[in-house]
Amino acid sequence: MLAPTIGVLALQGDFEEHMHLLHSIGAGAAEIRSRPDLSKCAALIIPGGESTTISRLMLGTGLDKEIKSRVRKGMPVYGTCAGAILVAKKVLGEKRFRPLGLIGIEVERNAYGRQVDSFEANVEMKNVNRDDPRKIRGVFIRAPVFRRIDKSVEVLASFGGRPVLVRQGNVIAGTFHPEIAGEKAVHELLLRLI
Ligand code: GLN
Repeated sequence: MLAPTIGVLALQGDFEEHMHLLHSIGAGAAEIRSRPDLSKCAALIIPGGESTTISRLMLGTGLDKEIKSRVRKGMPVYGTCAGAILVAKKVLGEKRFRPLGLIGIEVERNAYGRQVDSFEANVEMKNVNRDDPRKIRGVFIRAPVFRRIDKSVEVLASFGGRPVLVRQGNVIAGTFHPEIAGEKAVHELLLRLI
């Protein structure tokens, strides 16, 4: 049987790093730029970048509606950083775009402020159905903060007392970039959700 294909939204941002990481774990991977591209995928990654730009390009290609409809039918999706902002139900104080509303979290963009624009840290990731909790490496780049999460949203990893990786059903959102650190755990989790 062919390995399922993980799509990586490739409109803007660091999609190449995700493609690279998926190849390194032997997963099928495809860059997604249009609705027909998406129909070939069993799961989707929305990468980091600029959420305002990615949102505008998703609207222009009609991918916003298509992603919402596929995720509601069960397709797993993983939003990292800008991607996490885009899958949220609400982006605090943001008037330029509306997020996809796929997971019960409220997000504040660029919430770590200027001094810590970018940093690397170990975060402890909880087990999901298997494996022990483990330290994983994450890179935070102008990262958002999850200010509020619904009760049904599970916290998979925290850093500095704040949730940084969460899941609700088939939707995962993380404020950091595992792909830049070459960290495979979250991508492997996405594969297991298919
Ligand atoms: N600051 C970006 C935004 O708000 C996200 C940064 C990132 O994806 N690394 O869209």
